[in-house]
Amino acid sequence: MSPEINKSATDRASLLARLDGVSALDLTVTSSERRTEHLQVVAFTSPDLVGFNALPGQDLMIDVPTMNGQRVRRRYTIARLDSNKGTVEIWVALHGNGAGETWARGAQIGDVIDGVGPRGKQYVHPTAVHHLFIGDHSSLAATLEMAGSVAFGSVSTMVSFPSDDDVMEPNFQARVASSSSTALSPVTPGDGSALLQELTHFDLSIPGLHCYINAEFGIVNSVKAALLQRGVDRDAISTKPYWRLGKSNAPHGEPPKDDAPKD
Ligand SMILES: Cc1cc2nc3c(=O)[nH]c(=O)nc-3n(C[C@H](O)[C@H](O)[C@H](O)COP(=O)(O)OP(=O)(O)OC[C@H]3O[C@@H](n4cnc5c(N)ncnc54)[C@H](O)[C@@H]3O)c2cc1C
Repeated sequence: MSPEINKSATDRASLLARLDGVSALDLTVTSSERRTEHLQVVAFTSPDLVGFNALPGQDLMIDVPTMNGQRVRRRYTIARLDSNKGTVEIWVALHGNGAGETWARGAQIGDVIDGVGPRGKQYVHPTAVHHLFIGDHSSLAATLEMAGSVAFGSVSTMVSFPSDDDVMEPNFQARVASSSSTALSPVTPGDGSALLQELTHFDLSIPGLHCYINAEFGIVNSVKAALLQRGVDRDAISTKPYWRLGKSNAPHGEPPKDDAPKD
């Protein structure tokens, strides 16, 4: 009989046992830079990253301490992966004093952190002709990585930022037929009204459209509802809540979903 798998354990061995296709990564911090008032960029190197494969938008689960001495996992998008050199970055949106953010603020060169990855099942849709990425500051890295990876068709991004200093534009590939990026700023984190308003100006009837929503839990739900209401096919919408206003993410790194509205 196979050993029972503990679905709530977040230690490395348990994650490796229950998650398909992930590797253990010992990540050494090579720099930790406060890029803006609201963004900490932590860079890592690891022999485990040499030959490491990840799709645009996938993430790493890293192990961080909490204030009460426990350990939790936090998920951060894989940014600027170089699997020849064995380097990667994570871009951490700063907002308060959660475990992930506190770890990132204090990361020191030479620190070694326990990572597991790649995680994430939201991929750039292979047959879509137009890609619309909608997100907030927490999903900036995912939006830039995914939008920048689109090689054909057209691509648009719509991202809310906490300040003008935080605005970053995607590097669209030269081969895409057309591209547009909309930066909404300043926007209070967790407030989806600017994104919803901006969406009213967007032509959602473009054939072959696929929409990606990565943001705070309530924003994901309200933007998805607006897309459905305007006739976007359910199958043409990919969503991932990254965090939840007023609540900590669970120890496995996901925002709590208890009273999620049904659609
Ligand atoms: C698949 C996935 C990928 C992710 N990728 C990234 C990424 O690349 N970069 C990134 O920054 N985050 C990313 N996140 C979110 C990240 O994992 C953490 O949830 C986030 O950093 C907060 O963790 P924390 O421990 O600091 O705070 P928590 O203890 O989870 O929360 C503490 C408080 O902070 C609030 N809070 C949490 N996040 C924010 C925010 N962004 N703005 C304002 N208030 C907030 C919460 O509502 C809560 O009140 C991702 C999440 C998922 C599920």
